[in-house]
Amino acid sequence: MSYRSRVSSPRMLEIDAIAKTTRKAALAKAREIFLIEPTIIDLVQLTVGLVIPRPNLTYESKRLAGFLDCRGEAPEISYEEYDPVGRQHFSIAHECGHFVLHHVLASGYAHACPQSVIDPVEEDGEGNLREMSEADREAEADAFAAAFLMPREEFEASVQHYGFSARFHAFRFQVSGPALVRRWEWLRTCAQ
Ligand SMILES: [Zn+2]
Repeated sequence: MSYRSRVSSPRMLEIDAIAKTTRKAALAKAREIFLIEPTIIDLVQLTVGLVIPRPNLTYESKRLAGFLDCRGEAPEISYEEYDPVGRQHFSIAHECGHFVLHHVLASGYAHACPQSVIDPVEEDGEGNLREMSEADREAEADAFAAAFLMPREEFEASVQHYGFSARFHAFRFQVSGPALVRRWEWLRTCAQ
């Protein structure tokens, strides 16, 4: 099940606003240090801390897409180096979502996100063994990632200017095609 069916509409709008504020703050920090065209990784680093690629990222023998570690002196995000770039961006922004939404820094814990939980495809909805509250957190982090990577105003302006093409906009926003389509569908149906 995609995050859209697991997060309530009011909470989706709330997360959208939080992601927007977070991105704006990161862009302001980038300007302060004269970073003219910050990448997605730059923006997340300016929000959370170090973002590090790791090949065959695993935790307790599970293959991970992303890992947020707040146990050390400074928070760190790791992501799977062998994933496609669009997927990596979604995983990194998803971990940023946990950091911003779920107050993980104060708890000083590590949050491991297996490949199957970040932006799952529809058929992964069955046989969910996780506690509901954990599934909710994963869905919220997905919603944050989508909003952080594809800000509503920018996305809508771009579609108005160029017309809708999933391939073109997935390239422009550096996300996967399915992630882009999910975001666009949500913007069209739920957002005011
Ligand atoms: Zn997660």
